[in-house]
Amino acid sequence: MTVYAAPGSPDAKITFKPRYENWIGGEWVKPVKGQYFEDISPVNGKPFAEVARGTAEDIELALDAAHRAAPAWGKTSATQRAAVLNKIADLIDANTELLALAETWDNGKAIRETLNADIPLAADHFRYFAAAIRAQEGSFAEMDGDMTAYHYHEPLGVVGQIIPWNFPILMAVWKLAPALAAGNAIVLKPAEQTPVSILVLIELIGDVLPPGVVNIVNGFGVEAGKPLASSPRIRKIAFTGETTTGRLILQYASANIIPATLELGGKSPNLFFADVADKDDAFYDKALEGFALFAFNQGEVCTAPSRALIEKPIYDQFLGAAVKRTALAVQGNPLDTETMVGAQASNDQLEKILSYIDIGKQEGAKLLLGGERADLGGDLSEGYYVQPTIFEGHNKMRLFQEEIFGPVLAVTSFDGYDDGIAIANDTLYGLGAGVWSRNGNVAYRAGRDIQAGRVWVNNYHAYPAGAAFGGYKSSGIGRENSRLALDHYQQTKNLLVSY
Ligand code: NAD
Repeated sequence: MTVYAAPGSPDAKITFKPRYENWIGGEWVKPVKGQYFEDISPVNGKPFAEVARGTAEDIELALDAAHRAAPAWGKTSATQRAAVLNKIADLIDANTELLALAETWDNGKAIRETLNADIPLAADHFRYFAAAIRAQEGSFAEMDGDMTAYHYHEPLGVVGQIIPWNFPILMAVWKLAPALAAGNAIVLKPAEQTPVSILVLIELIGDVLPPGVVNIVNGFGVEAGKPLASSPRIRKIAFTGETTTGRLILQYASANIIPATLELGGKSPNLFFADVADKDDAFYDKALEGFALFAFNQGEVCTAPSRALIEKPIYDQFLGAAVKRTALAVQGNPLDTETMVGAQASNDQLEKILSYIDIGKQEGAKLLLGGERADLGGDLSEGYYVQPTIFEGHNKMRLFQEEIFGPVLAVTSFDGYDDGIAIANDTLYGLGAGVWSRNGNVAYRAGRDIQAGRVWVNNYHAYPAGAAFGGYKSSGIGRENSRLALDHYQQTKNLLVSY
């Protein structure tokens, strides 16, 4: 067990700068209007750094830098770009602890996740796209009339990227790695709640990239995000965030006729078929763990399994065991490697979650676990902690239909296969889902019948770089990860050649 010292204390392994600027053209640049905002750590509810408050003027500077850099970067070979991406991956690997501490302090998530998942995955995504771009091939086809059609992949040019606060580094990397591999220059805006960890990352890797290839402008949604997403100077906007914001992004993009990739909200069902409880074995245990994963990352996961659907014959037995399992999840100091449930990312988010707990009580859902703000005392007493909370109810309740984005689970039963699939699909969203069954046919069929871009079958919450990720229905447009992501950052050039 390790408890990392809090930043600012004598034994701390990370020191934040008191003030972070924007990263433009390969250097730190002060915001044109000279304004800053505070980044607050959810671990203790206290500000720890000031960050440049970017506006349209800063976005223009960043776009100038990106446009200067894009032509040369776009003409580098796939091998050259792959070498840069691999170097970035090496730097991330060599600084896992530093980046994990930055992410945990900025976002509040438990260090065991950032150390073991977020940061290693970030390195792996760079390696994956380094390999994918080298392996990508064009094509040619013989046409009638002695013509040959050659198809080439070309970068789009300058692209915009807007990031949410729940996995700041990993969400940025999901966008940066394919865009860079494909040869684009980028202007990226982090979320205003969690800008610093991305700035710690760029401090580490910034010099590996030619100046202007990656630019970071901090700031708020309307002040900095909107001028970026609505700029006629970008050839694509990639956005991860709420579905309501995604609608706006699509409107901005339509004005300039550019593509938008949207990774939006979710209300993912997690189905447990009755055969799960046929034996009290390792599979049963894994399924119970899969249930408790709604609290993973404090429930601030777009694919959080926030609706558990349990088949009627095992409802009481499985739910009883699953609630007991969830109660064992250790909530505590996010800097402690034993902690499983850390802090919510912001005070706004904390209040939103608590308001949904009230809504659940008012609409008659039965509270089975938690239901309160957690006071961890001492230095953490002002941090943003919520107890993992389980409600029992039915799928028409707001608890089951609206994205809470916290450690709040809504549980109900289903009566046979068709009912299970109908409840699973009775949602606006279609991002993630889980299916648990010992019967391969049932599991496979359910995986195909659920309307979601990612269905985990007999597992949950794995995000390998090679598996396509994205939403059905109101959960988004486009895919990240896998070689499909390259398509979203490239355009096809056809040369039709006569001999
Ligand atoms: P959000 O939409 O409030 O903000 C996301 C980003 O958009 C922030 O950087 C914000 O500053 C910016 N923004 C806000 N208004 C804008 C505007 N008018 N124009 C341009 N930019 C604007 O979302 P959030 O609260 O930061 O993130 C949580 C949401 O993200 C949840 O709904 C979650 O499901 C979703 N999410 C989805 C995925 C996925 O892959 N599908 C992954 C992570 C998070």
